[in-house]
Amino acid sequence: MIIKTEMRSKTLTTRGRKCLRCKHRNRMQINLASILSMDHACQGCTRVETCCCARYEVCVDAKELNRIIQVLPEVVKLCPHLRTAGGYDNVFDEVEPGIYAIDTTESGLCIFAFVSDHRIRCSLHTVGLTLGIPLAQVKPKACLLWPLAFSEGDTALSLEEDALSFRCNSRRRNPSRRLSPALGEAIGLVYGNDLRAELEKKAKQGVRRAAVLIPAFRPTKPSINTPWQRRRGECWADP
Ligand code: SF4
Ligand code: SF4
Repeated sequence: MIIKTEMRSKTLTTRGRKCLRCKHRNRMQINLASILSMDHACQGCTRVETCCCARYEVCVDAKELNRIIQVLPEVVKLCPHLRTAGGYDNVFDEVEPGIYAIDTTESGLCIFAFVSDHRIRCSLHTVGLTLGIPLAQVKPKACLLWPLAFSEGDTALSLEEDALSFRCNSRRRNPSRRLSPALGEAIGLVYGNDLRAELEKKAKQGVRRAAVLIPAFRPTKPSINTPWQRRRGECWADP
C-alpha cells in the first residue's frame, strides 16, 4: 500500500482533529476535574452529521497504520468500498512527518465506518472484537479515548473542547469522585488497567489533577460483562 502525501479534496480541513499526541514521552498530566465533570455513553449514531466519526480528521502514527494494514483483509469484508482491482484503496494521507490522516467518504465519514442495523459502526472495532485482538492494537487510540484528548499544549489528558456538543456526552449535575465507566474503560484500553485503577483511586481521594507516568503500551483485551461493554460488543462506532 502506498501512502499518499497530499490530502484528498474530499477531506474536510475545517473540522477538528482526533490525534493522540502527548508532548512528553514518559509522563502526562491528567485533568481529573474536567474528566469527572462529564458522563459519556455511546449508543451509536444513526446520522452522519452527529457522529464523531465524521466530525474529526482522525490521525494515526506509523505503528497504528501498520497494525491497521494487517487487518485490512478482515476490514474489507465490512467495508467493501475499500477493495480495488489491485488490492485495497489507499486510505492514509501523510499530513505531517509520521502522522497519517484516515481518508473519508464524500459525506465526511471515516472510511472505516460502516452501517449495520441503521447505526454507524467502526469496522476496526468490530474486527478487533471478532478476532480477539486488543482494541488498542487495531483501532486508533485517539478514537478509543474520545471524548478525551490532549490539551494544554498536548501535555494534559482532558475532555475534548467540543465534547458537550455531542448527545452522548453530558455534564454531571453534581460533583462526582467516580469516573464515568465508559471513560474509565477507555483509559484502561489505551493505558492499561493499572493506570485506570490509579486514577480511580486518586479521583476518590478528591485529587483534581494528577501527574502520571505513561505506562509502556500493554493493550488490554476488552471484556464483555457490563451493560455498556455489551453494547460495545455489538460494535458501536465508539467504545
Ligand atoms: S461516541 Fe457514539 S454516540 Fe457519540 S458521536 Fe460517536 S458514535 Fe455517536
Ligand atoms: S472509531 Fe473507527 S470508524 Fe470511527 S473515526 Fe475512528 S477509525 Fe474511523
